[in-house]
Amino acid sequence: MTPKITGNLLKSLRKLITNNKPLHAYIVPSGDAHQNEYIAACDCQREFITGFSGSAGTAVVTQKLAALWVDGRYHTQADNQTDDNWLVMKEGLKDVPSIPEWLSECLKEEGGQIGVDPNIMSFAAWERMSTGLMEKGLQLVPISGNLVDQVWIDRPARPNNPLMTLSTKYTGETWQEKVAKVRQEMIKMKSFACIFTALDDIAWLLNLRGSDIQMNPVFFSYVIVSQSEISLFVSEEKITSDVSAHLRDGTDAAVLIQPYHQFSSHLEEVIEKCPQDSKIWLSKSSSYKIHCKVPEEKRLSTENSHVRKMKAVKNCVEIEGMRDAHIKDAVSLCEFFSWLEMEIKHNNVTESAAATKLEELKRQQEDYVSLSFDTISSCGPNAAINHYKPVEGEDRVIESSDIYLLDSGAQYRNGTTDVTRTVHFGNPSSYQMECYTRVLKGHIQLARAIWPRGVKGNSLDSFARMHLWSAGLDYKHGTGHGVGAFLNVHEGPCAISYRSSAAEIALEPGMIITDEPGYYEDGSFGIRIENCMLVTEAATRYNFKNTGFLQMEPITLVPISTKLIEPSLLTADEIAWLNGYHTKCRETLEPLLKKTGKAEALKWLLRETVHIG
Ligand code: ZN
Ligand code: ZN
Repeated sequence: MTPKITGNLLKSLRKLITNNKPLHAYIVPSGDAHQNEYIAACDCQREFITGFSGSAGTAVVTQKLAALWVDGRYHTQADNQTDDNWLVMKEGLKDVPSIPEWLSECLKEEGGQIGVDPNIMSFAAWERMSTGLMEKGLQLVPISGNLVDQVWIDRPARPNNPLMTLSTKYTGETWQEKVAKVRQEMIKMKSFACIFTALDDIAWLLNLRGSDIQMNPVFFSYVIVSQSEISLFVSEEKITSDVSAHLRDGTDAAVLIQPYHQFSSHLEEVIEKCPQDSKIWLSKSSSYKIHCKVPEEKRLSTENSHVRKMKAVKNCVEIEGMRDAHIKDAVSLCEFFSWLEMEIKHNNVTESAAATKLEELKRQQEDYVSLSFDTISSCGPNAAINHYKPVEGEDRVIESSDIYLLDSGAQYRNGTTDVTRTVHFGNPSSYQMECYTRVLKGHIQLARAIWPRGVKGNSLDSFARMHLWSAGLDYKHGTGHGVGAFLNVHEGPCAISYRSSAAEIALEPGMIITDEPGYYEDGSFGIRIENCMLVTEAATRYNFKNTGFLQMEPITLVPISTKLIEPSLLTADEIAWLNGYHTKCRETLEPLLKKTGKAEALKWLLRETVHIG
């Protein structure tokens, strides 16, 4: 990876900061007007100004200095992609200042105002940042007209792709039923109108999908729901005859389609109409700009939108779809690993060539739409870079002397997948085997956990780390994230993380969440084992105060490499879990591989699912 040269860009940006007196610094978050995690090329201001292409990170530019804050997934990548103009602030490491701490130090003499585009910062993020800055005597101010856009000469156009409708065969529920549930909740909450700005909320609510953001089947839009109106603000080119029929659906409850850019003026009309004793409901994850449009006395602001909470709990049809998507994905991964193992014996296979081959195999599966994120095909030291994306020409050849880590996922019309496997084609060191086994023990510890209803994933995170901690090891990322049903691969508001968030809600049956502990040795190797898990009710011997207990079940069915295991570190229970898991993989996949005549993949599956111990 060669770093981007940013000297001239920073010079131009600093000129604009000077022109916006009395601004002293400018914050460039990585977000868009809908607070998407993955964003369209036209919204990558932070990447454009820094060169760092990771999905999360915040840049801050003062007249003298420029700094980039990144979390544990991106420490190495940010170092590699930024030039000397940038200080990389590695969150989670000792003595790394927060943005307010750093700014107060930099601006000791002048004090002052810190600008940001209020359209691309969520209300929740604004509140946190503003409070932090205020404590240091600094003030966060909204600057309309994004300053980075003004120095971005060849900024790509906003994508405008047509929409696709999803029938109840995939969704299990019509959009009318979903809207009716939202309206019921609005009555309870005394809300006159509800604003939806998150693109996956809107796609899920209306049973529509798009392709405006790569690998995330969403589309640029806003929705306003009241008891008498459902307005979808979307560019007209997206609406095919299918889509308009779907949104009419022969009932009175038709969705009113309005131009995307008219959302703001329509919102003003809705605010006008809102009665004294009622409120406009929006989530804190919508932008600061939209929040400020709604006067405080009329604003009902919650951590999560109601749709975000509804969407996290999958219905029976969505669960069946997710299971099926994972089976298709597992078939392609059996084919892939059996191919790779053979291929590297005879030919040089680069990380990017392996990723291309995998995509080819996934594409052959029914209802395949796209990948769900860039495949992380990484070996040796590259596997230590959490969100590594191999680039042809700059990547490594997969050697049998290295650990190979593959994290991949796909979008199928009936579900979204995300799975990581770590393998070794030669002779791993005993240290690598110990690390791998400790990661596996953590994975199993969480997979076997039973917990009382009401517990958040935050409380379960240490289960996955305990066997690494006891040996003085750890990993710097969360243990699990929610996964959408043919939607975003990272979906809130449930998570399993050492960090708690105000928006996090308790785990519930029907949620799908990943179990993905890892271990990374910078410059040397990386390990991660990731399954998607379905939260279910647990049958316990007792039921303390009728609480109800929960557990999780893997829906990913890809053999977990046993070659890297140090058997003496596993308990009998752990061995039994792994053997049981492999039986399930074999029973599910064997008939499919037989039926389709995939002899090599079948051979690989049978070998990889042999019981240990
Ligand atoms: Zn993954
Ligand atoms: Zn994941």
